[in-house]
Amino acid sequence: MRTLQLPTGGEMPVIGLGTWRMGEDERSRAAEVKAVREAIALGYRLFDTAEMYGEGGAETVLGQAIGEALRSGDVRREALFVVSKVYPHNASRRGTREACERSLQRLGLETIDLYLLHWRGNHPLHDTVAAMQSLVADGRIAHWGVSNFDTDDMEELMQCVGNGPPCAANQVYLSLGERGPEFSLLPWQCERGIPLMAYSPIDQGALAHDHGLAELARQLGVTAAQLALAAVIARPGVVAIPKAVRSAHLKENLAAAALQLDATTLAELDRLHSLPTRKMPLAMI
Ligand code: NAP
Repeated sequence: MRTLQLPTGGEMPVIGLGTWRMGEDERSRAAEVKAVREAIALGYRLFDTAEMYGEGGAETVLGQAIGEALRSGDVRREALFVVSKVYPHNASRRGTREACERSLQRLGLETIDLYLLHWRGNHPLHDTVAAMQSLVADGRIAHWGVSNFDTDDMEELMQCVGNGPPCAANQVYLSLGERGPEFSLLPWQCERGIPLMAYSPIDQGALAHDHGLAELARQLGVTAAQLALAAVIARPGVVAIPKAVRSAHLKENLAAAALQLDATTLAELDRLHSLPTRKMPLAMI
């Protein structure tokens, strides 16, 4: 699969698997672990989670699936890229480090590949960045970044980085239905080589039922969800992390990474879901 270079070295596949809503109900645990195992077997290598999802439950599901896959030799640890996030209320200098240790424990890993501040909170950014950089220095995380940061937040973040490792990614809501970040945030990140991770890239499933998209997708011999994903990752500097547990969805979404959209299709997508003509506040789910 195509990958994006991180400004801090290493690379990230353009399609990964989201895990929000996993780990919330013990009765669904076995099916969720099975879905993540299937994802690994299919070839997913990027996984997105957070301490918030199921209050640690999603990290536990992901950790169990990864542990099983590693033990059975389905995948090597070095091939995986695991992303997790700290709650803003935990993101003090000390709290970030403690939250990271708890996440590592639940994931059953020695290192988190990319650790993000989930959204801006009340702790000074300087403190969170210092904690993130110390976690990199200690090898507990390989890269750090942020989520739900708009252009002005990113500008402010740049003032906190100093000589330590820089921000490796910003994860925001970006889909055909929510194109706000394409106006100024994405160009800003592209200029600095900071990848944008698009969350809710299928608008939480809604784009799979979008009539205009479905008709265009039918003409191309793909599904509406695949077209929605291909459109998002066609933007330079963007990776997408759709969440799925159904086997058909896992397969469809992974295959979308290989779709090439021509100029006519991209123009038709712009007609169906237009770019904003002015800066919009960053949307959050
Ligand atoms: P999403 O990925 O846009 O949509 C997920 C929903 O779409 C699920 O109900 C899924 O169903 C369905 N779906 C997946 N593939 C499909 C397909 N090919 N056809 C039809 N339906 C399909 O929404 P999301 O879960 O909100 O976002 C993705 C990930 O981004 C999250 O899981 C999370 O990791 C991350 N996220 C981050 C933030 C943040 O603040 N940083 C916020 C929101 C989300 P099934 O599960 O039944 O297969």
